[in-house]
Amino acid sequence: MNYKKSRYNVTVRTEDGARLFNARTGAIVELSEMDPLFPQFEETWSRETFQLSDHEWFSALKDANFIIPEDLNEIPDYIESFNARQRSTDKMSLIVLPTEQCNFRCVYCYEKFLKPEMNEETQDALKKYITKTMERVHGFSIEWFGGEPLVGIDVMRNISVHTVAAAREHNVPFAASITTNGYLLTPEVFEEAVNEWKILRYQITIDGPRDFHNQRRLLGTGGSTYDQIIENLRYIAQSDHPELLYSIRMNVDRENLKTVPEFARIIKDVVGDDRRARFYVRPTWGESKFELLTNFEQRSLRKQIVDVCTEVGLYLYDSDLILNPRLGMCYAADPRSLVIGPDGNVYKCTSAFELPENLVGRLENDGTVKIDQEKFSLWVESSIEKYPQCRRCAVLPICNSGHCPKIQVTKPREMRTRPVCPPYKDEIKLLVGGAFQEEPVKEFV
Ligand code: SF4
Ligand code: SF4
Repeated sequence: MNYKKSRYNVTVRTEDGARLFNARTGAIVELSEMDPLFPQFEETWSRETFQLSDHEWFSALKDANFIIPEDLNEIPDYIESFNARQRSTDKMSLIVLPTEQCNFRCVYCYEKFLKPEMNEETQDALKKYITKTMERVHGFSIEWFGGEPLVGIDVMRNISVHTVAAAREHNVPFAASITTNGYLLTPEVFEEAVNEWKILRYQITIDGPRDFHNQRRLLGTGGSTYDQIIENLRYIAQSDHPELLYSIRMNVDRENLKTVPEFARIIKDVVGDDRRARFYVRPTWGESKFELLTNFEQRSLRKQIVDVCTEVGLYLYDSDLILNPRLGMCYAADPRSLVIGPDGNVYKCTSAFELPENLVGRLENDGTVKIDQEKFSLWVESSIEKYPQCRRCAVLPICNSGHCPKIQVTKPREMRTRPVCPPYKDEIKLLVGGAFQEEPVKEFV
């Protein structure tokens, strides 16, 4: 049989050989030019078609989808598997807001802090929904979000204890994650969260070195927050939970931009050689008293951060996210993902609670979720078959034309004439060539 290279391969020449990445499987292979087989590989790899017997490495490369049968048309094959996945109901991911309240008042925050902690009636309804869902799925996850979720710690405890027990009873793999400002994540809370609530992933935002962070992320009462968060982070970095992953996110504006390399070194000093730690940056968005980055600065920052992480020896969270097929797609585009507000309202997107199209359903007291199918389909309808660019795209298995459905949803239908491409589309080679963990992070469920 004749074979050819997958259209989803990315090949990067490195200092001492080459690195291959396949966007469909997420496989990464490091090839050393010191290997005596390397010159023959380079020669054979440049051909259009070949036999598996042409090179000793080809069987292994075939197993990881770098090499496929010549007569396989990968595009319809991929689209069919994607559609089957979108239709399946074998897993469920919830993003739960125990409260919209927050102990911080960050200078750029878009939240309105309108809704109080989830009441007991809604907590009971959510527990019923979780129990029913566990009866039919093979994987379940919760991401805790807010406000600051730890301000609603009693709600988290109540729902988590119930969910862990239900998962155990139904033998369903379950793990949780949290987006937190880190201030209330003291050693005691962290240990309870890992051991009792199965929160194994943490995203903590720190906006640069002490003075820069403290100008941006203040307590509601006005005090500074940096030292407490760093103290909590130090404990996490020294904790003994091998299955844990935590990422430090820095929101960057024109003023703290210059501190990115210095801050990366501070974080490296805190986490040491902990392989569970990740670092990443995002441009500050919306309104802020600090000037926002221009598009050009945002692009430069994305390139800079790969170099900074490689130099400092920090793993870049973007590599986990983007070099891991399917994680590059927003959860809002996934039919098996729902956002549960503290009042039982059901949404798709966590950054547009005021958008009428985002209110897609309601959690009823009997534990059912009533969905407005018309609104729901706005978020999850696949654009892959609609846009020829997506069908031909080399990063389709990562993006799935689902980078940010909100951008399409907020446009009138007649204006949705082009796909919304993620910034990483043209920078995938940069990430493949940069710092990454040898074992890419797997999805929870
Ligand atoms: S939206 Fe852009 S990056 Fe995503 S699959 Fe379509 S063309 Fe590719
Ligand atoms: S739809 Fe867009 S704005 Fe909403 S959560 Fe997804 S990426 Fe964020």
